[in-house]
Amino acid sequence: MHKKLFIPGPTEVVKEVLDAMASEMIGHRMKEFSELYNAVEPKLQQALYTKNRVLMFTSSATGCMEATVRNFSKKKILSGMCGAFSDRWYDIAVGNGKATDPLKVEWGMAIKPEMVDEKLKTGQYDVFTLVHNETSTGVKNPIEEIAQVMKKYPDVIFAVDAVSSLTGYKIDVDALGIDIILAGVQKCFALPPGLAIMSVSPKAIERAKTVENRGFYFDVIDMLKYDEKGQTPSTPSISHIYALNVQMDRMLKEGMENRFARHKKMADMVFDWAKSKGIELFPEKGYESWTVVTMKNNKNFNIGDLNKELGKRGKTISNGYGKLKDVTFRIAAMGDLMPADIHELLNDINDILKI
Ligand SMILES: *Cc1c(COP(=O)(O)O)cnc(C)c1O
Repeated sequence: MHKKLFIPGPTEVVKEVLDAMASEMIGHRMKEFSELYNAVEPKLQQALYTKNRVLMFTSSATGCMEATVRNFSKKKILSGMCGAFSDRWYDIAVGNGKATDPLKVEWGMAIKPEMVDEKLKTGQYDVFTLVHNETSTGVKNPIEEIAQVMKKYPDVIFAVDAVSSLTGYKIDVDALGIDIILAGVQKCFALPPGLAIMSVSPKAIERAKTVENRGFYFDVIDMLKYDEKGQTPSTPSISHIYALNVQMDRMLKEGMENRFARHKKMADMVFDWAKSKGIELFPEKGYESWTVVTMKNNKNFNIGDLNKELGKRGKTISNGYGKLKDVTFRIAAMGDLMPADIHELLNDINDILKI
């Protein structure tokens, strides 16, 4: 039996999008491909509220994280760290031999604008990496407030991982002055995993041109050169781009604002449920993610057993991530899930746990 995914990626994929994945193949140097590519990019720009170029990566989102550290820093990266994925970005920078400093808070806490300001004031940095929605802790960092601080530092590239929030939460890329935003398509975009997207501002492009050793597969300058022609440097996952085209149409038809409101509504349903059952939220108050609701297991449920029973009913949720495995659990409400799905899930959980 298929288990409906209430986990923070991959998420449920609707049949229309799955079918588009199975479109007949074309060559990536054929004009049919360029037409497809050129049709998708403006739709991505619309969904991201940006005029910046949006590149498609045949990789998971981690590929874009690596591209960011390789392409845009010549001096030193300031790496916001507040959980497993933001910690990973630091490790990627170090692994690529890039000078990097941590800006670290405890898991469950958010990165605050003052902390960013304090570090950037030193003038040591040329890139700041921020994970908007830290999927491991369910913390949503205050991106709007941090963006105000970033405006004081025009020489610092503002790079945002919005893997588990982009298109589920409104991020006005141009208004916030975000130079780089990246996401994999298997979360709020609700496509099968294997493709990621990244927008690049003119300022970031100018920087990249002056950076040596940008790597090969994800050399952004090379990718942009091909992007001009509606192509990618190497063979992309054409199937994904077909599916993304269909999904972007679906998204824009729903309306981005409606889509964000639907995600918020689903999150509120889970928040209300947790409150009514005496289940505490894990993140620092006021910074709770709307796409990955992360709760403390303060009622000592056996999440493994719960998931087994949910599985029999064709559903699955997530336990905690990494070191939070046994102390938290997560219900993700992303992509094409509907409030009715959350309603049914919560009823099932109540029934199974007899709460
Ligand atoms: C899922 C996730 C990633 C990693 O994405 P992959 O597509 O698995 O490489 C990175 N950052 C965040 C915030 C995520 O949720």
